[in-house]
Parts: sequence; structure tokens; C-alpha cells
Amino acid sequence: MNLPNMLDAKKRNSEETKHIYLDDKASDMYKNKKYFIRTYGCQMNVHDSEEIAYILENVGMTPIDTIEGADVVVLNTCAIRENAHDKLYGFLGRCKHEKETNNHDLIICICGCMPQEESVANDLIKNHPYVDIVFGTHNIHELTDMLLNKMDNQNIKVYSMQGEVFENVKYKRDSNIKAWVDIQYGCDKFCTYCIVPYTRGKQRSRYSTEIVKEVECLKKEGYKEVTLLGQNVNAYGKDLDINYTMSDLLRDVAETKIERVRFVTSHPWDFNDEMIKVISEYDNIMTYIHLPLKSGSDRILKLMGRRYTKEDYINLFNKLKENIPNVSITTDIIVGFPGETEEDFKDTLDVVNTCKYDSAYTFIFSPRVGTPAEKMKDDVTIEEKNKRLHILNESVNKYANEANQRYLNKVVPVLIEGKSEKDNMLMGYTDTMKLVNVSGSDNYIGKIVNVKITDVKTWSLDGKIVK
Ligand code: SAM
Ligand code: SF4
Repeated sequence: MNLPNMLDAKKRNSEETKHIYLDDKASDMYKNKKYFIRTYGCQMNVHDSEEIAYILENVGMTPIDTIEGADVVVLNTCAIRENAHDKLYGFLGRCKHEKETNNHDLIICICGCMPQEESVANDLIKNHPYVDIVFGTHNIHELTDMLLNKMDNQNIKVYSMQGEVFENVKYKRDSNIKAWVDIQYGCDKFCTYCIVPYTRGKQRSRYSTEIVKEVECLKKEGYKEVTLLGQNVNAYGKDLDINYTMSDLLRDVAETKIERVRFVTSHPWDFNDEMIKVISEYDNIMTYIHLPLKSGSDRILKLMGRRYTKEDYINLFNKLKENIPNVSITTDIIVGFPGETEEDFKDTLDVVNTCKYDSAYTFIFSPRVGTPAEKMKDDVTIEEKNKRLHILNESVNKYANEANQRYLNKVVPVLIEGKSEKDNMLMGYTDTMKLVNVSGSDNYIGKIVNVKITDVKTWSLDGKIVK
């Protein structure tokens, strides 16, 4: 048993990161068995689940989309806010019931960011002995061995460490049109509210040659779009110390001539002019940027440890708008950070009114155990926080709708990804990341088509395919 430790998780030293090439371990030990995966949280977890799916199929299993009938259930968890915990425990109750009443042999696995927290790991040992396998973010590849050598007792292997970089990772991707590509793991920014640097280790970049090779393979397999993934993609390469940065990587990935290149998430601190230049030079780098604001108040930004001011942020925002034609910019904002005053909140609204974002993810601050912000004095009531969130969302929605209105009657390129949730329609995204619903035959799936926008909603556009 390996249990997590927050103090170890926080440590950073200058030791060089190991780059480990994984072997593929296949087996038919679980042949004819079925697996079910539920993923909570961000794109990184979604992509990790693609790796887990590959591992499970590599030991013989096939997927099923209910826990009833499954032999193995994997819950890939998120620790970013308290409600992520609540969601997990609700679903875990259902898994326990299934195991006790219908399938005593059901193997329940928990992984992802939650078990990286000491309190969660201890709770799983004490109160959830029916959970069979627990692994963390640093050892997904050990799932194969944990399944092949399954023990009668609960098997917990969670490492609190700076982490390694794994290459040669295989995935069962959810889409055959667009793919996630990890370029960097972990985070060293230690924003005071955030648990990620503890759950995912230090910031470490993959070798660019491996990233470009992966994109070339995806292109050969027919993929149209890649999204380069990391917590602070703009800081890519800094830890490798080889004078090769995110702008170099973007250029090399664009040069593969894959049709669409995206990247998330950008930290305003590391967004430099060279990156802006590369984005504007290449038609296949999409004109969409997610630029987290978090707060518009300099006082709160300082308390959050974000290392930019309201003015720095607005200057960068304006530079992006001026230099990248047609760019769409989204953001995320936390309201109700400890001690946030009415004045601080007004500063946030002021930035929203200045930037008029295409969209924004908005959250109420959620204290995370072990982070500095958890210990900060918080005299803002939950009613007040809810009120601020409501006011903020009204502004965000208004600007999202206005941004979409500008598309009416325009012809825009859309990568058609599949069936829409709307009856008999197809769905896809513009270069600027607008969701579009269109009518058309399934033959369009996987193609980039020109679409004339005929109707506009706050969160989506309707259109028709034109020649
Ligand atoms: N690295 C990215 C960034 O800097 O924006 C992603 C951050 S985080 C992993 C994903 C989202 O969770 C962000 O929108 C962040 O604002 C939010 N978040 C993180 N910790 C939070 C907390 N304690 N309370 C509320 N929201 C939080
Ligand atoms: Fe969390 Fe800040 Fe790192 Fe984003 S940059 S993952 S918010 S610590």
C-alpha cells in the first residue's frame, strides 16, 4: 500500500525529470469481461480515461455504458472543488449497492486527483473497504499489474511525488476526428486556492520530438484536429532548459499540416509576443484562446498568487485582439475568494465589461484542504457569494450572446464532429470554438465545411452547409 502525503506532494527540487518509455503489456485474463468508466473534471482527466480504456481493453475487456453488467468500474475523479467530491460519493453509493446486491465480484477502482488527497485515501480505507483498487495520477500504467495481480484486500497505490514524463502511452480515443495531446504535466504555479500542483506534481514537459511524432501519427490516421494539453501550456519547455518554447512547439506542430491545432490552458503570465506572432502566422492554429482571469481585483489577484495585475491582463487581452484577426477569447473567474469585497467584485465586473468575453466559466471559491487559501479568513457569506455569481453570470451571458450575434448570416468553417443532441442534426465547432448545429448527411462527419449561420443562441449557432 502506498498512501499520499501532501508535504511530499508540495516538494520541488531541481532534479532532472525522468522520461520513461512504457512497454505495452497485453493479456487475455479479462477476456469477455466488461468495463465501465465514469470521468469527472477537466480535459486532462478525460484524456487519462482514454489511457485507462486502452489498458482495460489490452487485458481483454470491452466497454459497457452502465454499471449493471460491468465487471470492472473505474471512477476517474476530480478534486478541484468540493462538489466534485459530492458527485463521486453519490455515484460510489450506487456501485456499492450493485456489488452487494447483484455482482459480488464487481471490481471497483478509484483513480485521478481525489485519491491524491490524504483525507480521501484515509476515508477510502476506513469507510469504503468494498473499493478494490485505488491508484493516482502518477501511476495509471500500474493499473495493468494491479488487475493482473489482483489481491483479496483493498490495493491502494498513490504516489506523492514530483512525477515523471511517460512516453509511448497508448490511448483508446473517444473520437477519430479530434484528439488530445499531452504536452506538459503538473503545475508549479501554486495559485493559493488550487489543489492541482499537489495532485499532479511538478510542471514537466514532454520532448517536442515525441509530441510532433504523435501529431504526425494522428494526422496519418485521419485526425483533423489536435488540442495540446497542459495546465500552463505557454510555459511549455521551460523545465527542459533547451531554449525551445511554446512558440517553437506551436510552429512545429502547425508545420505537420494537421488541419486544426488548439491549445489549453494559457496562463496570462507566460503569454509572450512570439506566441502571438506564431498564432497569427499559421492558418491551422485556431483563433481561439482560453485566457483565465480568475479575478479583476489586483488585491485578490495578489492573494491568489496569480502574478499579473488587472492592467497587465487587459493589455494582453487587447494585444491578442489587435494581432490575431477574428480571435475569440474565453475566460474563467472565481467569485467569493476569501475576503473579496464589493469593490473587488466590481473590479471583476469591470474587466468583464471591458473584455466582453465570448464565454466564461464561473465558479464560487471552494476551499481545498492543504492549500494556503483554505486558511485565509473568509467573511463573505455564501448568500453574498451566490448573489455575486448570479450578477456575474448575467453579464457573461449577455456578452456571449452578443458575440454570437456577430455570426448571423456569416459563412464560417465548421469541423463536423458527429450527431447533434438536436434531432436529426449534425454538430461541430468553428475555428473560434463556437458550437454549430447543421442539417446534413452523415457523410459530412469528419469534414470541414462552410456553414452559413441562420440562427443564433447564447451557447450555440444554427446554420446550413453551403458550397
Ligand atoms: N491551469 C488552468 C488555469 O490556471 O486556469 C486550469 C486551472 S484549474 C485546474 C480548472 C478550473 O478550476 C479553473 O477554472 C479554476 O479557476 C478552477 N478552480 C481551481 N481551484 C478552485 C477553487 N479552489 N475554487 C473554485 N474554483 C477553482
Ligand atoms: Fe491551478 Fe494555478 Fe496551476 Fe492553474 S496555474 S493549475 S489554477 S495552480
